[in-house]
Amino acid sequence: MFDYLIVGAGFAGSVLAERLATQAGKKILIIDTRSHIAGNAYDHYNDDGILVHKYGPHIFHTNSREVFEYLSQFTDWRTYEHHVLASVDGQQVPIPINLDTINTLYGLKLTSFELEEFFKSVAEPKEYIRTSEDVVVSKVGRELYEKFFRNYTRKQWDIDPSELDKSVTARVPTRTNRDGRYFTDTYQAMPLHGYTRMFEKILSHPNIKIMLNTDYREIVEVIPYREMIYTGPVDLFFDYRYGKLPYRSLEFKHETLNKPLHQPVAVVNYPNQQLYTRVTEFKYLTGQEHPKTSVVYEYPRAEGDPYYPVPRPENAELYKKYKDLADATPGVHFVGRLATYKYYNMDQVVAQALTVYNKLRELENGKLQEKVNSELVKL
Ligand SMILES: Cc1cc2nc3c(=O)[nH]c(=O)nc-3n(C[C@H](O)[C@H](O)[C@H](O)COP(=O)(O)OP(=O)(O)OC[C@H]3O[C@@H](n4cnc5c(N)ncnc54)[C@H](O)[C@@H]3O)c2cc1C
Repeated sequence: MFDYLIVGAGFAGSVLAERLATQAGKKILIIDTRSHIAGNAYDHYNDDGILVHKYGPHIFHTNSREVFEYLSQFTDWRTYEHHVLASVDGQQVPIPINLDTINTLYGLKLTSFELEEFFKSVAEPKEYIRTSEDVVVSKVGRELYEKFFRNYTRKQWDIDPSELDKSVTARVPTRTNRDGRYFTDTYQAMPLHGYTRMFEKILSHPNIKIMLNTDYREIVEVIPYREMIYTGPVDLFFDYRYGKLPYRSLEFKHETLNKPLHQPVAVVNYPNQQLYTRVTEFKYLTGQEHPKTSVVYEYPRAEGDPYYPVPRPENAELYKKYKDLADATPGVHFVGRLATYKYYNMDQVVAQALTVYNKLRELENGKLQEKVNSELVKL
């Protein structure tokens, strides 16, 4: 008998498996439909021997010391600060928009102070910031919005930013200095030997059994377990009772090129003409030296693996109905990005899993205490 059946071997499932096995002595079966562990963070050496991320670039960054220290038990790190350029008007300029972006784009020599004035002069202040368009236009004006954001967002979401919740572009800051880093978190690093190696260590405990290439529905009736931790799509768990939760998907086109380097930084965004949104060159992320180089093109798709929950009010309402069902399902704990229908970064999912682990322990200690109390009453 397993104590826990854990559905999904991504960050959410694997962190919980590790905590429950090593800290609480629980017996775990972790299961995944895919042929590998590590969920969307999975990386592997391709046929040319280059380490690539199968499901698009995964860059680790966090402000949480707890999360960083937790993962550091399973990997050494390679310091890495992420840089992104956007291909606009035939030039490749830094994104988030900063002083260099504007000076290069318009052939100017503005100072930080002058750039602030420039943004003020082009910004269109809004009384209420409701949509993604409002967020950007109220900060940097319509022209930069059109050049950098509008078409990118339309490609990515198949929705005009004027119809998309403000939370989507609230993630993109604008700077008046020359800071070209994509993230400003305290901890920015990549697992030295890759994510999959890190997951192998997370899951390497005799109490953890791994079953791959298997949908949990194939075995849930035949393998005995006490409780379930579910990290798959919440609507699938309830057989789509209220309909499908909408997601955007991506198609990844991987290519190896017969040259040592392809582009100046890890990621170049293509906001306009091209059908793909961005191109990632993996060697920048991994630090690998190799005479060839591997890149991946990302094409947004309506169908395919569920990647990005679509943040619209009607979808939040639909999710709420599934959440109510989930809350009323005893013995099953819904954790992670798909089970809670939220765009979470890796560090947020690790933090969520650690919190759930603490709650499970508290629950168990509470139940134990109740049992001891009732035994004492009997005596
Ligand atoms: C293109 C892309 C780029 C990203 N880049 C970054 C980044 O740079 N930095 C960052 O911090 N985060 C990034 N993320 C987010 C990151 O992928 C997630 O935070 C993380 O993978 C979430 O972990 P999880 O365990 O919740 O989900 P997942 O990794 O999706 O794991 C869930 C697992 O459950 C399995 N599963 C589903 N249904 C079933 C079933 N019925 N039976 C058995 N198994 C099932 C799935 O196969 C999957 O392996 C990115 C995501 C995408 C899509």
